Amino acid sequence: MAKTHVEPATLAATPFPSNNSSPVPGLIPQAVVRIRGSWLGLGVLMLVTLLLASPVRAFTLSDGTEASCQVSRDGRTGNATERWSNYQNVNDRDPELGKAVAVVRRDEQGWPVIILDAVAYKQSKAVMAAMWDFIFFHECAHAREPAMTEIDANCDAYIAMQARGLMNPIRSKDIEAAHLRIMNLPDEYGGNGIGFWRLTMECVDRRTASAALTTGTSKP
Ligand SMILES: [Zn+2]
Repeated sequence: MAKTHVEPATLAATPFPSNNSSPVPGLIPQAVVRIRGSWLGLGVLMLVTLLLASPVRAFTLSDGTEASCQVSRDGRTGNATERWSNYQNVNDRDPELGKAVAVVRRDEQGWPVIILDAVAYKQSKAVMAAMWDFIFFHECAHAREPAMTEIDANCDAYIAMQARGLMNPIRSKDIEAAHLRIMNLPDEYGGNGIGFWRLTMECVDRRTASAALTTGTSKP
């Protein structure tokens, strides 16, 4: 499904212009193929024009570990490419991002490229540490499996964070709150933030129950 993602209009602020259709040379190959996958923009955080340090090269999780997103495709295994969009002016922001802070695209060889908004990350990682972990794992799910649905990508992200010890009740609530702020979302995201989160948690519960059955840890 080569569906172009429809970025959820987010939160309050109008984030970034999304009508730019020309890829930025050097950041993305000209023949970028859009696949589904993106994360909700965190509009409120995206204010603007800062003086920036050099681009971030890898994704640092909130526990300080460096994360990579391992992907297997066509017999090739390796890390999904990460591209950090760094800019001093909003107009120079990678247009592939649209209103999102992270998206997945594919390069000319079909290899997944996770594009992240370096400015939004730097501005918000301190207060939204859990959410950024979640965004990374959500995009990684898309990178691994192009047909991944939004609900399953969220579900994967949640479970990946649990597995790494990055989830706890407070972090879960923080991530939930970021979802619940979103009033309108396309159907594949559950229609709005409430639906998106509800479907995500239903998936997590389902998978947790089935994992418990498999490992024999379920209660009678
Ligand atoms: Zn997505």
